[in-house]
Amino acid sequence: MITCTKCGEQNSDETRFCSKCNNKLQSSRKAAPTEEARHHPLEHFQHEGVPTDSWRALMRMVEAWAYVLVLLGVGAGCAYFTTWWPMYPTVGILGLLLWFRRV
Ligand SMILES: [Zn+2]
Repeated sequence: MITCTKCGEQNSDETRFCSKCNNKLQSSRKAAPTEEARHHPLEHFQHEGVPTDSWRALMRMVEAWAYVLVLLGVGAGCAYFTTWWPMYPTVGILGLLLWFRRV
């Protein structure tokens, strides 16, 4: 089955055009980029809602600060209760998160 990108109608694999709105159907097997996407790849990405580089950099900074705040919060809690074992899993989880974010 091919789902129409325009109206969402389900069409059979043999159909080239949507039976409901006559929109040209793209087979999922042939994942070739459209003519427009090939000529303007970055523009196409921005239309899809992918954040720009500056926005991504800002989000990364906010994320880094969130990690620092979590670490400080757990550290303060540990100092208050004078137990240090919660620091180990927290540092481990944050380390893993940072590692995953860079992949
Ligand atoms: Zn359609």
